[in-house]
Amino acid sequence: MKGRESLSRTDRIAKAARRTAQEARDAASKRRQDEKRKRANSSMAIEPHRHCVVCWSPIAMESDPAVCSESACIEKNEKREGSRKRLTIMMYLFPGIAIILLMLQLAGGAV
Ligand SMILES: [Zn+2]
Repeated sequence: MKGRESLSRTDRIAKAARRTAQEARDAASKRRQDEKRKRANSSMAIEPHRHCVVCWSPIAMESDPAVCSESACIEKNEKREGSRKRLTIMMYLFPGIAIILLMLQLAGGAV
């Protein structure tokens, strides 16, 4: 009776020890997985990518125009593109007009 009791106690202790070891193994493997995931995430951050010009959320490198799939961002980008095009046109148009006026004046002066 006494021997059996002590045996069952050792058995219990052994079982507890096994369980603890298993838990430690599980925790270790989980930590390893976390590290792997973290490393994968950091490598993703290094991977070439671009950001939406409106909300700066990361998007695919080959997406053109550089906006995410949000319609608000697409609209905003189109508006921006439009005003930039207008600005570019004006940047060429005004000096062009100035040159034409200057040439007209020169031509008028020559006559
Ligand atoms: Zn966006």
